[in-house]
Amino acid sequence: MGEGGTALPRRLVPHHRTGLLSQGPSVTLVQNKNAEGGVQIDETMRRRLIEAVAETIALHAEELTAIDAAQGDGDHGLNMNRGFGAVTAKLDDIAAKPLPEAVQEVGRTLVMTVGGASGAIFGTAFMAAGKVLPEAPTRADAAAAMDAAVAAVRARGKAEFGHKTMLDVLGPVATALHGDATDLPAVAHAAAEATAGMQAVRGRASFLGERSVGGMDAGARSAALIVAAICGVVEETP
Ligand code: ADP
Ligand code: MG
Repeated sequence: MGEGGTALPRRLVPHHRTGLLSQGPSVTLVQNKNAEGGVQIDETMRRRLIEAVAETIALHAEELTAIDAAQGDGDHGLNMNRGFGAVTAKLDDIAAKPLPEAVQEVGRTLVMTVGGASGAIFGTAFMAAGKVLPEAPTRADAAAAMDAAVAAVRARGKAEFGHKTMLDVLGPVATALHGDATDLPAVAHAAAEATAGMQAVRGRASFLGERSVGGMDAGARSAALIVAAICGVVEETP
């Protein structure tokens, strides 16, 4: 398998693990990749992933709430911040679990604590992704996990692509993972911005009918922030 074959996208793999900055495979590369080319996500990294996601949600909580206020009921930032605050409160326990269980526990915690449509739907997405992730995911595994999240959101939210929800970010990110795109945060942010031109079919924004066109979807913005935070940690982990 060549670099970038079934491995995580380059932006999802620290440079020293891709061998980009070194001549041939480094010791770290060998230590962090299993025979199938998966990247071992150890406890330190699991902790950093959770902290990074919680931090970006907290930093953008007001913005998320403002986006939701224009289209929904103005509680999305509060909802997401409450959920990831509850996840952070269990950081030690969750990070100690193997990756698949840790991701599922994040999902369960969101379902239990968020309230609002987004808790049930984001929570279900994390639970579905965790169920299919191995402890050392390859790029193909990451794509399969995103496919599982997409399927879960479609089933739980009865949402389809173009309905102006978080699905309109998760779908393009899944497609990008199946292809050879390297800048997943850019894909996710562009997808979130594209929801501005959509008319909402699901969620409270659908009550606005045609007036829902013009502003970004709040859940789509959250999904893009989460994707970007995850990619940032994987890329920067020493
Ligand atoms: P609520 O709509 O209950 O106030 P939030 O404001 O926290 O919950 O979350 C709203 C976001 O949830 C929307 O922007 C949208 O992305 C997502 N959402 C709402 N309903 C659905 C649905 N049926 N399917 C998929 N996503 C949905
Ligand atoms: Mg809301």
